[in-house]
Amino acid sequence: MKKKVRTMCHDCHTKCGVVLVVEDGEIVGVEGDPNHPISEGMLCTKAYSAKEIHEHSDRLKYPLRRTGERGEGKWERITWDEALDAIAEKMRQIIEDCGPESVVTAQGTGRACNAWHYRLQSSIGVPGFSLAPTHVCLLPNLAQTHVTWGRMFHPHEACDYRRAKCNVSWGSNPIRSRQHSGLRMLDSKRDGGKLIVVDPVFRDIASKADVFLQIRPGTDSALALCLSNLVIQNKEYGEELLTEWTNAPFLVNPDEDRLLRDFDLDASADEAADHYVVWDTASNDVAVWRPETKSYDRENVRPALEGSFAVTMADGSQRTCRTAFQEYADYLREFTPEFTAKITWIPEERIREAYDIIVSNKPCILSPYLGACMMSSNALQSGRAITILQILLDPPVDLPGGIFFNPIWDVTFDPKITMADQVPGNHLRLGYDKYPMYTQVYASSNWPASVWEAIETEKPWPVKGIFCVATDLLGCYEDPQRIREALLNDNLEMLTVMDYWMTPTAQLADIVLPAAHWSERDMGDEEVIPDPCIVTIPQIAVDPPGEAKDDWFFWREVGKRLKPEWWPWDSTEEMYLERLKWFYDWPEDGTWEEAVERAYIQPKNAGESRIYEQHKKGLIEFKTASKKIEIYSEAMPVYGYNAPYPTYAEPEEGPVSTPEVYQEYPFVLTTGCRDYPFYHSAWTNIARQRVLEPWPYVEMNDLDARELQISEGEWVYVESPRGRMKAKARPSKAVLKGVLSLPRQNYKDECKELNLPGFDWDQANPNVLIPADGSDPGFGCTPMRGTLARVVKATV
Ligand code: SF4
Repeated sequence: MKKKVRTMCHDCHTKCGVVLVVEDGEIVGVEGDPNHPISEGMLCTKAYSAKEIHEHSDRLKYPLRRTGERGEGKWERITWDEALDAIAEKMRQIIEDCGPESVVTAQGTGRACNAWHYRLQSSIGVPGFSLAPTHVCLLPNLAQTHVTWGRMFHPHEACDYRRAKCNVSWGSNPIRSRQHSGLRMLDSKRDGGKLIVVDPVFRDIASKADVFLQIRPGTDSALALCLSNLVIQNKEYGEELLTEWTNAPFLVNPDEDRLLRDFDLDASADEAADHYVVWDTASNDVAVWRPETKSYDRENVRPALEGSFAVTMADGSQRTCRTAFQEYADYLREFTPEFTAKITWIPEERIREAYDIIVSNKPCILSPYLGACMMSSNALQSGRAITILQILLDPPVDLPGGIFFNPIWDVTFDPKITMADQVPGNHLRLGYDKYPMYTQVYASSNWPASVWEAIETEKPWPVKGIFCVATDLLGCYEDPQRIREALLNDNLEMLTVMDYWMTPTAQLADIVLPAAHWSERDMGDEEVIPDPCIVTIPQIAVDPPGEAKDDWFFWREVGKRLKPEWWPWDSTEEMYLERLKWFYDWPEDGTWEEAVERAYIQPKNAGESRIYEQHKKGLIEFKTASKKIEIYSEAMPVYGYNAPYPTYAEPEEGPVSTPEVYQEYPFVLTTGCRDYPFYHSAWTNIARQRVLEPWPYVEMNDLDARELQISEGEWVYVESPRGRMKAKARPSKAVLKGVLSLPRQNYKDECKELNLPGFDWDQANPNVLIPADGSDPGFGCTPMRGTLARVVKATV
C-alpha cells in the first residue's frame, strides 16, 4: 500500500520540503511539499533523484576497515561498534600523547550537523569547527556582518526579497543555488519590482534582469564603492539610520587613524571606557557617546553626519576632525563610474543605469553571495563594502520589505548545544599566526592548508587523526595535490570517512563508514531564511541500505565514548526533541510523534509572534564595541586589514597585480559556479543529474575561442601556475571576453547508467588551479574568483 511521507531534502542548503511516496518499502514517487513555508512545493532535479540515490549499487552499506596499504583498496567488513570503538580509542590516545588539537574532525557543507560537530569538539576539549571549508563558504560573510552590525547574518538570506522594490543578485545565481531566494526575487519582479544582476557570466536569473552588470571576477568591492560614492554624492542615503544607529557620525582622530575618544579631549577621562565623540549640531560642541548606557552624555544631542570640525585636544592644541562618514565619503570620491569601469570592465553607462534604478526603487535589497564577497583576495572588504552600501540605501531594518535579524545563528552557536562555555582555556587553531580572524575569532577552525602542513612537519603541533563526515577532502579544498601527499604521510595515524560512496578521500582512509541519505534519516536543521524561519521535522521514508546511519548518530556515538555525560541521548529523535525544547518552546513532555504532526516549527519570536524593530525596543543589541552598526570598524585593522572602512584592492593575481603572470595566463578565472544538477562535488554518478551536464566544461567568450581556434565541445586543458584540468570548451557570448568560468563539480564519479566515465581526483577538479595560500589578509579566503589561467587544446 502506498503512503506519503513528508520529509526534507538535504542535497543542498535550501532544505526543500519533500513528500516521498513509498510503497512496500520502496520510493515510488517524489513530490514537492506544497505546504512547506519556504520551498512552497518547489524541488529541483536533485530531490527527484531520491530513488536513484537510495537504490544506487555503489552506496556504502557497512563499516569497512583497511587491510592493505593506504589507498590499495583492500577492506574488511566490521561492525559499527568495532569502528566507533577504534575511532574513540584513537582520539583518546592522540589527546593523551599530543593534545586535543591534534585530533581534526572534518565536515562538509549544509548537512545539518554543525552544532553537534561543535559539541563533539567541545567534548574533546577544543571547541569550534575543527576543519570545514568555511574559509571560503558562509563564514566570511557572517564575519563581515558581525564586524559591521555586531550580529551574524547572511546578507543574501536575511532579506525580504518579495516585498523589496528592487533586488540586486550579486555574484549569485539563486535559480540554481538557492531556489527559494530566486523564487522570491522573481515574485518581486512579477509584481513590478526591478532586478539587477552582477555576475561575470550571464546565466538564468540574468535573463530576467533590468540591468546586467558583467563584472571582472574579484573586483566587486570597486563596484560597491562606486555605487556608495554616487549614493553619498547625490544625498540618497538615509540620514536617520546613519545618524542614530551607526557610528558614521563619530569623529576620527586625525593623528592616530582611529576614532576620537573623550580621553583625547580630556586627560582625566577613563582611557579604558571607550567613549566616542560626535559633533553636536544642537550645541555646536562635542558630545560623548557611552556604549555601556547606549546614550550621550546629555539629552537632545544632534550628531553631525558630515563635515570636519575643530576640536580642542587634551593638550590644548586644535585639531580638525572629520566624521567617520566624511572620511569614508572622501575615500570614495575616487570611485567615479569612469574610474570604476576601468577596474571592473563594466561599461560606465551600465553602472549609472544600475544606480538610477537602485535609488529610484527603494527598498532595494542587495543579495551578495559567495562569489562577490567570500572567495577572493579582498573578500572581507568586498563584503563590508556591499554591506555598507546596503546601509547607505536606507533599508527597512527588521521590518517587512527589508533586512531581518535571523534567529538561527543564535541557535547554531548557543552554548546549550555547543557546550563551548564549558571548556576552559584558550585554544589555538592551526593557522592562528596567519589568519587570526578565521582561526580564533569566528570559525574557531583550523585553516585548511595549515592542517596539511602540520601533518607533514608536525609543526606547530602534529595532526595525528582526521575524522571526516560528509566531506571529500580531495574534492573540496584548494591544492588537492598537496592534500593527497599529506593524507598518505605516515605521520597521520588514522583517517576515517563517513559518506555515501567510496570517494577519493575514502579510498585513502583506514575506516570507512556508510552514511544514510535524507530519505533514510530524520535529522534536520533550521533553514537560514528568516521569514518564515522554521525548522522542518523530517521523517524516515525508507530503510537505509545495509547499516548506513545518519550523521548525528556518528557524533553522538563518538561523543558517548569520550564524554558520556554530555551525550545522554540514545536516538536522533531524542536529540531533536531536546533541541526543540531548548530553542522552540517545545513542551517538556512533547513527543516525537507530536513534532512530526506539527511538521514545521517556528523558533521563539518568529511567524505571527514576530516582534519587529527589536533593536529599537531594546530586545537585541548590536554587539560591536560602540553598540552601533560600525561603518568605521577599528576591529578591521586589528585583524590585519588596511583600513577601518572598506577599500578596494586588486586581486592578488591578475592583469594589474601580476602583469608578468598575465602574459602567460591571459584569462581571469572564476571557479565554483553552481550547476543545476550538482552540489559541490556530488551527483555526477546519478544519471538523472549527469544527463544534464555529461562532461566537465569551461565557459569562455566566443571571440576568445575563435582567436584560439577552439570550437564548441573540443577538449581543452585549463592551466594555471598551480596545475591543469581537462574540460570541454563551451564558447558563447555569456562570458565576458578575457574570462574563463569553471563550474564547481569535479566529475570524480563515473555514471554507469549513461556509460560516462569518472575522472581521477585531479583530472577535472578546478581546485588544482587555485592557490592554497589564502590571500584575504585576516580570514584566509582563497581566491577562487579572480586568479589567472590559460586554455590550450588538449593533446591526449
Ligand atoms: S537539492 Fe534541490 S530540492 Fe534539494 S534542497 Fe536543494 S534546491 Fe531543494
